[in-house]
Amino acid sequence: MTESYQPETLALRAGTERSQFHEHSEALFLTSSFVFDNAEQAAKRFIGEEPGNIYSRFTNPTVSMFEQRLAALEGAEQCVATASGMSAILSACMGLLKAGDHVVASQSIFGSTVNLFNNVLKKFGVETTFVSATDVAQWQAAVRPNTKLFFLETPSNPLTEISDIAVIAAVAKNCGALLAVDNCFCTPILQRPLELGADIIIHSATKYIDGQGRVLGGAVLGSKKLMEPVYGFLRTTGPTMSAFNAWIFLKGIETLKLRMEAHSANALQLAQWLEQQPNVARVFYPGLPSHPQHALALKQQKTGGGIVAFEVKRGKAAAWRVIDSTRMLSITANLGDTKTTITHPATTTHARITAEARAAAGISDGLIRIAVGLEALVDIQNDLLRGL
Ligand SMILES: *Cc1c(COP(=O)(O)O)cnc(C)c1O
Repeated sequence: MTESYQPETLALRAGTERSQFHEHSEALFLTSSFVFDNAEQAAKRFIGEEPGNIYSRFTNPTVSMFEQRLAALEGAEQCVATASGMSAILSACMGLLKAGDHVVASQSIFGSTVNLFNNVLKKFGVETTFVSATDVAQWQAAVRPNTKLFFLETPSNPLTEISDIAVIAAVAKNCGALLAVDNCFCTPILQRPLELGADIIIHSATKYIDGQGRVLGGAVLGSKKLMEPVYGFLRTTGPTMSAFNAWIFLKGIETLKLRMEAHSANALQLAQWLEQQPNVARVFYPGLPSHPQHALALKQQKTGGGIVAFEVKRGKAAAWRVIDSTRMLSITANLGDTKTTITHPATTTHARITAEARAAAGISDGLIRIAVGLEALVDIQNDLLRGL
């Protein structure tokens, strides 16, 4: 019914199911289990002969509303909600991979995702090759007969590199692998990876979907066929989204379009202003013509998004001075919040990799990442100007 609606309408209307009380706003069902009319109904539910809720590790009405709403926005057949973004990636891999399989992943992905591939999945016989986010030839060259999954994140964190989803999807398809895209930075408001040929979408709902820094959650989206083993893993092992968090996310999604547009508008103006500052050596933002993949970004995403990185002259001391001179911005590694956050990647999110690996990834000691919030632009500028 809601399939033909525009995204802002889907964000408000998709997935809503009213209870016997006809509530207008989506209800929060805090119950671990559900009661059956009789023994026969219980038996039918358990063997799947009759649809319906059994236990909240399997399904919960509030969580189901969230899943349907996000699926509608991404244009996916099915969404599986999870306890966090990391458990979304874990559930997708555990559901779709087995010992002996090989993964090709962008080297510019979230740090815990690198750890998951390098340390956790490796123990279970899944090997990963890391390649450049932007050089498609490396993806092709890394393919082995047992390659089952391509994994990328675009724009990347913190340098906002853009991976060409359509081109990498074609390479994956050609060798019989699935392409998973972590769509956390753009959300379906700015980028719809399934339409570009991706098979699976990953979300950390913790970021823009909540948008107000309150709770953790995640999601895996794709075809019914691909989501069946992912849901099977979740149902058995339990990294399920809590009903309370799903209710927070349902409300967050309602303003997602407004927020993404406002984050993007603020970020673009801040990036343009940073480019003018004498102590700033370089600004990384896909919406700037100076970004090496500006044309691809404009084709693939609606706007440049809310994340801006910039390099100050004179390295770490200068970067720390900018951060420590702020009075309003939140010094925290989280992102996707209405409140602007500022972080020094080299000593926080990317501190545990070697200095050589950091240099190879382009993360210099002078680099600062800002997740631009919804405060007045002039107040963000003044807060940064003190240290610049
Ligand atoms: C934060 C983040 C994750 C992990 O999400 P959690 O909800 O913290 O588990 C995964 N991918 C990206 C791009 C992220 O920013």
